[in-house]
Amino acid sequence: MLRRLRDSATIATTRRARELRAAGRDVLVISGGEPDFDTPEHIKAAAHSALDKGDTKYTPTEGTPALRAAIAAKLARDNGLAVKPENVIVGTGGKQVIFNALMATLGEGDEAVVPRPCWVSYPDIVELAGARPVYVDCGPDQGFKLTAAQLRDAIGPRTRWLILNSPNNPTGAVYSAAELRALADVLLEHPNVMVLTDDIYEYIVFDDAKFATIAQVEPRLAARTLTVNGMSKGYCMTGWRIGYGAGPEWLIRAMAKLQGQTTTSCCSLSQAAAVAALNGPHDFVARNNAAYQRRRDLVVEAVNAVPGLACATPQGAFYVYVDASRLIGARRPDGGVLGDDIEVAAYMLDAAGVAVVPGAGFGYSPWFRLCFAYADDVLRDACSRIARAVSELR
Ligand code: PLP
Repeated sequence: MLRRLRDSATIATTRRARELRAAGRDVLVISGGEPDFDTPEHIKAAAHSALDKGDTKYTPTEGTPALRAAIAAKLARDNGLAVKPENVIVGTGGKQVIFNALMATLGEGDEAVVPRPCWVSYPDIVELAGARPVYVDCGPDQGFKLTAAQLRDAIGPRTRWLILNSPNNPTGAVYSAAELRALADVLLEHPNVMVLTDDIYEYIVFDDAKFATIAQVEPRLAARTLTVNGMSKGYCMTGWRIGYGAGPEWLIRAMAKLQGQTTTSCCSLSQAAAVAALNGPHDFVARNNAAYQRRRDLVVEAVNAVPGLACATPQGAFYVYVDASRLIGARRPDGGVLGDDIEVAAYMLDAAGVAVVPGAGFGYSPWFRLCFAYADDVLRDACSRIARAVSELR
């Protein structure tokens, strides 16, 4: 079974960069996937208080009643979704929620439609479940977004899921409500297809982009939509490992069965912190987004100033996806030729001391991904090192 799994490209790159650093090399890591900001104080305080109160036992597998209620309230408040706590499951990160949903529903011969570039884990989880990802290439000419016509072509008799992710990792693309409306119209023609919408970057949007989610845009799809979200990105809580899914009760029950035999429940303290996060003040979101947007602009400008590189301006998340096609075939100072984006990323690491993630990990080459959730001076330094390394190619 493990032969079906690849190492996560993001984790692999970060590990290699850490090794080089440990060996004394000056390496700038901009390959990560998490906010550099600390968890807000009121959220940390809630965890302290839960600990002091002895809130240290197993919780119900689906999550504590307080957290499931807070999630239902959040989905009503932010997304206009009418969700009962019974329709909610809390997992050890959005990743476990997605894993459980796909494992609980997919089998040999089933298919999941995966628009790409896509987050590294969707295809691996689909394959681990014995099913087949049906990739749909969504390039820069279509804003990296799936169109209704593409969706119609991709759906077949064995399609069980469509996987959507907005704001998107790695491109930062954000689907508008109108774009989701067009996809929903196709899905209404196919009652057996479920939708997994990964909304983990919901709060990180820029300019005039407005977040929308498909069950809100088309309530008739709610009964077959799993809305996945979590605390990691918007609340700067990656290490706390809390994600959640909201969907039909049969699916939540199936996921809980799997969870009950694997991790039992999520960390009790993290769940208490998540309740405080969801119910508490959200002023830090705008503050963080202002910093992200400034850093985004800095990186986009610097990348587009490098002859041979190009990128669009992402509308959400904290990634810039860089077109490296003009570097393919270029000669490195040591005489070797860059054959693909894995070699481009390796060159950036070796020649520039900058860790980026090759597009191959996201199923869309020859590109690479930068993360701009780092301090401005790290990003400036990284971009000028990349520019220098590219200028040394022939
Ligand atoms: N979905 C996307 C698109 C992500 O980028 C990530 C994390 O990188 C996750 C889900 C999982 O996040 P977590 O398991 O920390 O909730």
